[in-house]
Amino acid sequence: MFKALVIEKDEGGYRAAVKDVEDSALPAGDVTVDVAYSTVNYKDGLAITGKAPVVRKFPLHAGIDFAGTVSASDDARFKPGDTVLLNGFGVGETHSGGLAQKARVKADWLLPLPAGLTPRQAMAIGTAGYTAMLCVMALDRHGVVPGSGDVLVTGANGGVGTVAITLLAKMGHRVVASTGRLNETDFLKGLGAAEVISREELSAPGKPLGKERWVGVVDSVGSHTLANALAGTRYGGAVAACGLAQGMDLPGSVAPFILRGVTLYGIDSVMAPMALRQAAWQRLAAELDLDKLASLTQEVTLMGALQAGQEILAGRVRGRLVVNVNA
Ligand code: NDP
Repeated sequence: MFKALVIEKDEGGYRAAVKDVEDSALPAGDVTVDVAYSTVNYKDGLAITGKAPVVRKFPLHAGIDFAGTVSASDDARFKPGDTVLLNGFGVGETHSGGLAQKARVKADWLLPLPAGLTPRQAMAIGTAGYTAMLCVMALDRHGVVPGSGDVLVTGANGGVGTVAITLLAKMGHRVVASTGRLNETDFLKGLGAAEVISREELSAPGKPLGKERWVGVVDSVGSHTLANALAGTRYGGAVAACGLAQGMDLPGSVAPFILRGVTLYGIDSVMAPMALRQAAWQRLAAELDLDKLASLTQEVTLMGALQAGQEILAGRVRGRLVVNVNA
């Protein structure tokens, strides 16, 4: 038996609860992992509350990511005792996931834990932090170099936002953080933001083109915020879009693309190719300031993850939530 945050849906409705489950409840897979830590990402909040159809198979253990130690393996790439991590691939959506003391997954989905990170630190980063790195790498590949202008980070106090600010500032970028929580200005400046602006500057319907303010943007908010970020991006600049905290719509125009040569990069963490994941995690292990990571991380229990799922959707979580599944 082990504990898991189980999502069920039947004639009794949609519900999430921490339960004792049998090992036989684990799905088919090549590698069984004793999970040490998981996290609560925005998508986990959607899964736990049922506010969006993230979970598509029932019953299912929630949790789109985890880090832990291999306990059994039918695959030559992994052996008992190896430390591993997983993000995405439908885990926590159609395959039982990491908000549980045990998980069984395909070997193809696992990465060895990068040297320099503990399982707890890897999950403090979690899918949100790994996605922040995918955004940073897209701006890098585009040629957005430190010193070339301001980089905007929207949803600044969120998981993606806090890790993106920390990474970009360390690289030497001048980071402008957009937030609905101006009372967290000191916290955001402590992570490395040079300037903090109110999200209201970007969240209302705007013009097709605005003042050229940003050389690059990391956007986890979508909707009008993304449209206005594009409209305010400098000639030849780039926007990396990964999220929808404000909305899934994109109510803008083609003007930034056809008049300023702005590029919009779509960022997906779930099915990102292995080579890209490995590169992102290697860079996170090498470049992320672990003291700053600790300062933006709170720990909760498996039971605490239930409430945290509501809190993250309400925009009340600051930074990252790591879940100690054995506490
Ligand atoms: P968080 O909830 O931690 O962060 C989102 C932040 O967005 C909030 O902290 C808040 O920041 C801001 N926000 C919330 N509601 C609104 C609103 N109505 N209007 C404007 N801003 C708002 O979530 P994550 O960082 O974990 O994820 C962020 C987004 O990225 C989510 O939509 C998530 O689904 C997506 N995502 C996508 C991935 C992918 O593969 N593409 C992977 C990971 C995440 P503040 O208070 O500072 O304004």
